[in-house]
Amino acid sequence: MTHLTTPTLTHYRGVLGLTRPVPAPLRRWLEEAGEVCAFCGEPTGPHRGVVFRDGNARNRDAHNLALACALCRLAAHPVAAGVMGLARLAWLPELQQWQINLLARRAWLDADHPQPGRRRLAEELSARLERGVARLALRYGEAAIYPAIFADLAAAESEAACDEIERALDGLRLVPLASAFRREIEDWRRLEAGRA
Ligand SMILES: [Zn+2]
Repeated sequence: MTHLTTPTLTHYRGVLGLTRPVPAPLRRWLEEAGEVCAFCGEPTGPHRGVVFRDGNARNRDAHNLALACALCRLAAHPVAAGVMGLARLAWLPELQQWQINLLARRAWLDADHPQPGRRRLAEELSARLERGVARLALRYGEAAIYPAIFADLAAAESEAACDEIERALDGLRLVPLASAFRREIEDWRRLEAGRA
């Protein structure tokens, strides 16, 4: 998968941070796509992007396009997410990436909620994600929770370890860091307040 970030309907910011105009056919698709993430189902707010499902940004076929929130976009660039300090890795085969994104977002938005019940739920969710991070660290060492370092570790393993790494990749997930999404959290909170 690859993606374009689209702060507005007319321009997007590519992976290198350059702002370019959104091509007309894509702009029409975006106008129709609305503002709900195709992966986790949450409202994207202004932080949304197009993910090309087959990883080919030239394939603008409607079936190849998906609108993604800021968290689900990360899955398209796991190593970049690690280098930029946006996420850690966790061993969570029981959850899909979109479910983790949904849980993380709920936990962030509920964390300072005045209702004790919701606050406890947020704390439980955070603890569950933390356990996944700890499980990976236990298996591959502390450094493995940083995606770029895990990629190096995997590359340095011998041929015989390939099967093991394949299995590890199956259960490997990105746990987004709240500190990297402060602006998004603010906007999502405003969005929720507006809907309430
Ligand atoms: Zn999403």
